Amino acid sequence: MRIDIITLFPEMCEAVLSESIIGRARQSKAVEIVCHQLRDFAFDKHRRVDDAPYGGGMGMLMMAEPIALCFENICEQLGTRPHFIYMSPKGRTLTQQVVREITDSYENVCILCGHYEGVDQRVLDSLVDEEISIGDYVLTGGELPAVVFADALCRMLPGVLSSDECFELESHYGGLLEYPQYTRPEVWRDQTVPGVLMSGHHANIEKWRREQAITATVRLRPDMLSQAQLTDKEKAFVSQLQEQEKDSL
Ligand code: SAM
Repeated sequence: MRIDIITLFPEMCEAVLSESIIGRARQSKAVEIVCHQLRDFAFDKHRRVDDAPYGGGMGMLMMAEPIALCFENICEQLGTRPHFIYMSPKGRTLTQQVVREITDSYENVCILCGHYEGVDQRVLDSLVDEEISIGDYVLTGGELPAVVFADALCRMLPGVLSSDECFELESHYGGLLEYPQYTRPEVWRDQTVPGVLMSGHHANIEKWRREQAITATVRLRPDMLSQAQLTDKEKAFVSQLQEQEKDSL
């Protein structure tokens, strides 16, 4: 996958996306990420990309033309039109499901980071394919949302993590939260690691982890259960846990 990011602060995105697992994935070419300085597409000598909103009101808006020129330049470089996403608090909320949908559907994704009061609506109406929000709150710019989104996309791509199992067993992928995990030492401040994990019995460990994942989901995120894929036996286990939860109230 190639991800192009249109931003007024490319260094901010580069700083995050050059480190750790994503940084290594970029070096090994498992993913390509290119950050574009929107001001390079401004057309006055002050490299202005924003102006006051028609009708008055607070703040400034990002102008349409530099964004269009930058996007068209990316399309030319790629030889194709990438799926164009605007990070916006008005968008559909980012979930693991959305991440999966995007990685399954597109080879090229272009992310637009807004700033100030946002961007001229005509860009959204004529160029942008969809708007994605990272949650119901407002940040000062789209750079943090863009790096959150890019990170979530990258870690699902082949060759980024050591195997698909790394994300398949994690919270949200299969509709459950992840089971609790432990590392050395075996006893830490009088708390011991659950015995089953020390047993070396792989089938029992797997069974315990699945039960713990269900338990964590029932306790912490019961709203997720309707989407989780559970066997009849597991559904009965959920009912039993829910009864216990009620009794403990
Ligand atoms: N005036 C806009 C509104 O009320 O919807 C908010 C603009 S915000 C101050 C500036 C930029 O930050 C937005 O254009 C968007 O790109 C980004 N942004 C802020 N919060 C976000 C969120 N929750 N998810 C995605 N992007 C966000």
